[in-house]
Parts: sequence; structure tokens; C-alpha cells
Amino acid sequence: MSNKMLKFVKIGQQSPPKRDVVTRKWDFNEIYKDFIHEKASEQSSRCSQCGVPFCQVHCPLSNNIPDWLKLTAEGRLKEAYELSQSTNNMPEVCGRICPQDKLCEGNCVIEQSGHGTVTIGSVEKYITDNAWEQGWVNPIKIKNEKNQSVGIIGAGPAGLAAAEQLRKLGYQITVYDRYDRTGGLLIYGIPNFKLEKFIVERRTELLKKSGIKFIQNFEVGKDSTLDQLRAKHDVLLIATGVYKAREIDIPGSDLGNVFPAMEFLTASNKKGLGDKVELFDNGTLNAEGKDIVVIGGGDTAMDCVRTSIRQNAKSVKCLYRRDKENMPGSAREVANAEEEGVEFVWLSSPKEFIGINKVEGLNVDKIKLGEPDDSGRRKPEIKKNSQFNIKADIVIKALGFDPENLPKLFDCDDLQVTKWGTLKTDFDTMETNLQGVFAAGDIIRGASLVVWAIKDGRDAALSIKKFLENKELQKEEVA
Ligand SMILES: Cc1cc2nc3c(=O)[nH]c(=O)nc-3n(C[C@H](O)[C@H](O)[C@H](O)COP(=O)(O)OP(=O)(O)OC[C@H]3O[C@@H](n4cnc5c(N)ncnc54)[C@H](O)[C@@H]3O)c2cc1C
Ligand code: SF4
Repeated sequence: MSNKMLKFVKIGQQSPPKRDVVTRKWDFNEIYKDFIHEKASEQSSRCSQCGVPFCQVHCPLSNNIPDWLKLTAEGRLKEAYELSQSTNNMPEVCGRICPQDKLCEGNCVIEQSGHGTVTIGSVEKYITDNAWEQGWVNPIKIKNEKNQSVGIIGAGPAGLAAAEQLRKLGYQITVYDRYDRTGGLLIYGIPNFKLEKFIVERRTELLKKSGIKFIQNFEVGKDSTLDQLRAKHDVLLIATGVYKAREIDIPGSDLGNVFPAMEFLTASNKKGLGDKVELFDNGTLNAEGKDIVVIGGGDTAMDCVRTSIRQNAKSVKCLYRRDKENMPGSAREVANAEEEGVEFVWLSSPKEFIGINKVEGLNVDKIKLGEPDDSGRRKPEIKKNSQFNIKADIVIKALGFDPENLPKLFDCDDLQVTKWGTLKTDFDTMETNLQGVFAAGDIIRGASLVVWAIKDGRDAALSIKKFLENKELQKEEVA
């Protein structure tokens, strides 16, 4: 098919959702629904091909953005795809969910000169979606199968990127995961309206067809110890992410209908995947017709408020203890949420959950921002006698995540962790203190981004390759 014949529709920023005045239901014009081709070449040709590609410098994967933009502008889409996928295992995922305003696009020279960024993420997404459509994305063909085996714990983006890179080199790869599906937070954390699940599923299918073995519903710590897995493989990679939800210790925390964010998002994602989810079906984890309050100001909180809106909540409020300028979440996500009808209650902190058995509301303190703390951010301080109440049928806690206690969970006291509980690794090699055990992704960084997890997975794969080559050499020397 010639490029000219490809379907061109509007590409660019998300258009505002419309609400039917009678049914009160939203018609979301999701960014990815109408974002197929039309302006990909137009956007790409806006790139000034500036001498210092700040976009590339600020992309964690150092994607060769100016070159694939140029190829797209010239209609050389296969070459654009090949270049784009040479540095990124999931360009269509990053194109959809990277906080581009903080990374590549935020540093686009055109943006900085006040003319609006080239929509780099959208073009990246387009290039790879088109490659899938054209049949250019194929399973890995292995030239030289190797006997050495790598066990990867965790099928999130870090584990999957490492698995793909190592399989390309011919190693035998087994990925273990405690979920029933692969993808980690790509499948059960990030909502469908930001990242459609078939995008993740077709990637993992491709890896299966490339000869990577996946063992699902397998929890290291329960179904095997770390040492048992070490004995099975030449190398292990730990890419288990961070899942311990931060708690809020105030009166009423044990009331019903106060949920951690992941419980709410997982139920919604499972439902979207066609699973039977009793707690959703019986209304417990369904926001429809309810007053929802989400506590937190990061991207997880934004996902919860935007999911609630899509479930037709009666009202959705986001409670955050700092102001808009100091929110950790992407400014684009906050703008989307505001546009969709989420009410932000800035400078507010919950003091007590109110209710009998089930939560009925919150008592909230007003906050003022004091002097900067150690992190450089202004410290929230409670304003005296400023309390007010908010009604709530469901409260969702989205206060961030910490690592689980892996040495205890894996029955391996020797495994060293940092003071934050993340795994301690060698800065250059990503090897933990246990020989032949490497780590990547959120479990070494703390809660971070998909693009960083992919970068870690790729870097870990390189170190693992060196380790395995040395191991092979040592064997030959002994023989
Ligand atoms: C709600 C939410 C929204 C997000 N939105 C974005 C976004 O828009 N953009 C973005 O860039 N980032 C986003 N992130 C962050 C991003 O998802 C993570 O940084 C990224 O997924 C980390 O990748 P990972 O491979 O390290 O871990 P994960 O994706 O967490 O994968 C870890 C895997 O390890 C498995 N596992 C854990 N323990 C064990 C065990 N003991 N045995 C076997 N398997 C185990 C888990 O089941 C999981 O599949 C979001 C995070 C959340 C929570
Ligand atoms: S991977 Fe993320 S930061 Fe890099 S070019 Fe793509 S969207 Fe931008």
C-alpha cells in the first residue's frame, strides 16, 4: 500500500469530551481513537532538525527522534519504524504514555520558541502502529541458539525489554510472574483509555512466538525461593516493580469503601479485559452514580479520577495537599482531568474518614505551604481551625508505592537493599550483591516510568550478556 493511501485522520492533542445533557454520559474523544495518521508527516516536517537535539537528550532511551521524524516526513515509514524500534522495545507504548511534556516534547526547540512542540510521542506511536498494520513487526529469528538460560522475575516493561534483548542474542529465557497476564503495570495499573490492552497483549504474543517461555501465576517467595530459581538458571534478573501502597494513618482508615488505588484500577482493567470481577459487578469497586474522592496528586491519582469519570461517577474530587504548581503528576494529565470534570481540592489534607461501617465522607484540613524541606519542595502545614467536610461514597488512596520486603519475601536475607527498600545494585553492571543476580526497573529506582524500566531492562541485558560470555570463557579455560 502506498503511504498516500493510508487513512489520515486528525492527529494532535485530545479534544474535549462532550456530555449528553439527558443521559449525563460522557462521549470521550480519546486521544488514541482519532490519532491515526493525518498529521504524522505534517508534524514530522515541523522538526527544525536543530543541531543539538534536546528532545533526544531528554529521552531516557536516547531515541534518534530527529532522524525518524525526517524519515516520516519523507514518507519512508518502514525505515522510520526500523530506526525507532532499534532503541526502544515498545515505541507504541511510550508514544502513548510517556509524560512527553516532561521529557522529549518539553525540550523541543520549537516548543521553547513558543510555537508548540512537534508531537513526538504521537508520531512515535503512529510509526509503530502502522508497522504492525503493515506486517513489519515479526517474531525474532534466532541465528545461534545458546544453551545458557536466564530466569526473569517480573513480566513488566523492564522484564520484557530484557527478555527480548537477550532472546535476540539466542539465550533461553523464562519469565516468571505472579499475575495471570504479562505486562505488569501496563496491563493492570495503567487504564485502558491511556493504553489499550491489545497493544500490550500483541507485544507479549510476539515474545512468545520468539521462543520466550512465560510462567504465569508463579510467585517467587511462595512457589519457589530465590535460591531454587538460581539453581535452575545461569542468571536471574529481578524486575518485580514496587507494589506496597503507601498508607494514610488517620481515624476511620478501616471503614468500608476506602480502597488502595491498585485495587480500584485492577478491577477496572480486568473488567475491560472481559474478566468476571465480582467486586465490580456487585458495585463495590464501581464508581457509577457515586461521589468519589481520590487522595493524591501523582499520575496514579489522575488515572483513578479519570477512570471514575468514565465509570459515570456522580462527582469526582481529587484531594491534594499542595497546589497545582507543585503537583508531581504530568501537567497534561491534570489538564485532561480538569477538562473532563474532575474537581481539584488543592491545599487540603484528610484528617478523618467519617462513617459507620462504610465511609460517608471526610473531614479535611486546609493547608498552607511553608518553607522548602530537604527535597526542595515547600512543606505543607496545617492551617488552624480550617476544617471542612466532603461527602464520599468511595475513597481511593493514591499516595504512591514502596518496594515490598524482597529479602523476606524471597527467603533470602543476604539480598541487599537500600534504605528505601529498593534493591542495591552495582551502578555499572546492575548486578545485586548476589553473583549472577541482576535487577532492573522500579525495584531499583522506586516508582518511576515505563520508559526508564525499558532502559533498565536493555542495560541489564547488556550486562547479563557480558556475564554469560565470561562464564562460558571460564568453563572453556577449565576444560
Ligand atoms: C496506576 C499507574 C499508572 C501509571 N502510569 C504511567 C504512565 O502513564 N506513564 C509511565 O511512563 N509510567 C506510568 N506508571 C509507572 C510504570 O507503570 C512503572 O514505572 C513501570 O511499569 C515499571 O516497570 P517494571 O517492569 O519495573 O515493574 P512492573 O510494571 O510493576 O512489573 C513488575 C512485575 O513483576 C511481577 N512480580 C512482582 N513480584 C513478583 C514475585 N514475587 N514473583 C513473581 N512476579 C512478581 C508483577 O506481577 C509485575 O507483573 C504508572 C504506574 C501506576 C501504578
Ligand atoms: S520514549 Fe518517551 S521520551 Fe523518548 S521519544 Fe518516545 S515519548 Fe519521547
